[in-house]
Amino acid sequence: MSRHYDYLAIGAGSGGIASANRAAIRGAKSAVIEANAVGGTCVNVGCVPKKVMWYGAHIAEAVKYSSAYGFELDQKGFDWATMVKNREAYIERIHGGYHRGFQGNGVEFIEGFAKFVDHRTVEVNGEKITADHITIATGGRPMIPDVPGAEHGIDSDGFFALTEQPKKAAVVGAGYIAVEIAGVFHALGTDTHLLVRRDRPLRSFDRYITDGLLERMEQDGPTLHTETVVKEVVKEQNGTLTLHFESGETMRDVDCLVWAIGRVPATDKINLEATGVELDAQGFIKVDKFQNTSVQGIYAVGDNTGAAALTPVAIKAGRQLAERLFNDMPNAHMDYENIPTVVFSHPTIGTVGLSEEDAIVKYGKSNIKVYTSSFAAMYNAVTPHRALSYFKLVCFGKEERVVGIHGIGEGMDEILQGFATAMKMGATKADLDSTVALHPTSAEEFVTMR
Ligand code: FAD
Ligand code: NDP
Repeated sequence: MSRHYDYLAIGAGSGGIASANRAAIRGAKSAVIEANAVGGTCVNVGCVPKKVMWYGAHIAEAVKYSSAYGFELDQKGFDWATMVKNREAYIERIHGGYHRGFQGNGVEFIEGFAKFVDHRTVEVNGEKITADHITIATGGRPMIPDVPGAEHGIDSDGFFALTEQPKKAAVVGAGYIAVEIAGVFHALGTDTHLLVRRDRPLRSFDRYITDGLLERMEQDGPTLHTETVVKEVVKEQNGTLTLHFESGETMRDVDCLVWAIGRVPATDKINLEATGVELDAQGFIKVDKFQNTSVQGIYAVGDNTGAAALTPVAIKAGRQLAERLFNDMPNAHMDYENIPTVVFSHPTIGTVGLSEEDAIVKYGKSNIKVYTSSFAAMYNAVTPHRALSYFKLVCFGKEERVVGIHGIGEGMDEILQGFATAMKMGATKADLDSTVALHPTSAEEFVTMR
């Protein structure tokens, strides 16, 4: 007899874990199937190892400017392998936490790669498993470009697998991952080159903020190469890579090339054809606002739906789905409006809502009022490194409702959460002005802008 569940999630990443746990908490007989390590992208090759390395980079920067605070440090070196070892030990502990969570909630964890047999049945390790409700939470994987020699490069998974620090790295791409990886490499002492094919990285972000990022990169690095397209990668006899660009220029002696040019959904190897679930042209699963696919009883959450590819989005979508199915909440669904997001650049970027450019398109220039502030955060101001932070509010209409909050500066990653809540509640510029500032902080700029 095959196993049967009320609820089955394929993929124990952010979305699958959250939905299976919540379903079980609400009384459903629930299971989750995972082909690799529990925790998925975020825990194993995403947010978690990235943030640990960002902290390492942060410490390197603090050490660099510590003499201005009176420290006389004798830095003997930096050991990449120690950082990686401690990072992986931490991730192991997180794995343990997930398994204890499954046990506590009564979720069955099944190891193996799941493929659909029909719309109610999947096969894992030769066993057929059926469920009334199946959620596809398979996430995505990195993309590699189709250029000769591309295989000599690594992707973000390969970056986290590095056990030695490269001397010279080229990071290709213009999104979150490229900016974050290049920033970590650079701060930790690798000669780092960020290669973007257009005029800047993070092109969909408010330009005031990316101007600030460009200024910081110009001052501090990594070295930014704009309008640069890799045509071919050649591995030399000494093991280093030579990159040939479409411009005819070359870059030599690269010992680590990282492709960070986007991700594709993991929807192509699970025999979806057996179900009738519809995909879009890029292979993302088509879902409605309730995470329903085109087939009744099959749902999808997270990166494979093409929604904002962020862990809290996958988690919230998964939990809301479980509440709808098993807690008598027929209207429960994830609200995809105004999702706050942070890029762990140096310094961090935080953004929620509309950029000035998008607000003008949506509401018209005459209906938008923009407030900006640029300042040297006190942390830097006492050092020779007097780099500027840039904050911006985008407001709409006569009442100046805040429709966009953007910033680049030390602490922006921690500052944004509360302001995103205020925006979600409909805050106006006057509401921010009426809030007493916290002094001395960078955050106070958001309640004192003129
Ligand atoms: P995943 O977490 O990818 O989980 C999918 C799981 O399904 C995987 O474990 C996979 O092995 C498994 N699977 C796939 N197919 C099958 C199958 N057929 N059978 C069984 N198992 C299967 N987001 C943030 O919010 N903040 C960050 O700082 C951040 N940093 C990131 C840094 C990097 C380098 C990357 C790559 C991503 C980052 N993200 C970040 C994005 C975040 O990791 C993803 O949005 C999130 O993990 C998506 O969750 P998911 O459940 O959709 O998929
Ligand atoms: P993104 O989709 O964010 O960015 C990839 C960018 O690379 C494209 O926008 C494009 O920018 C550029 N690009 C695409 N193809 C090529 C090519 N062939 N050659 C050179 N450049 C190319 O992908 P990422 O991989 O950076 O990240 C995936 C997602 O993961 C993110 O969107 C984000 O949602 C999530 N993530 C979140 C993080 C966080 O929350 N801090 C951290 C890391 C990832 P252009 O058109 O300008 O050239």
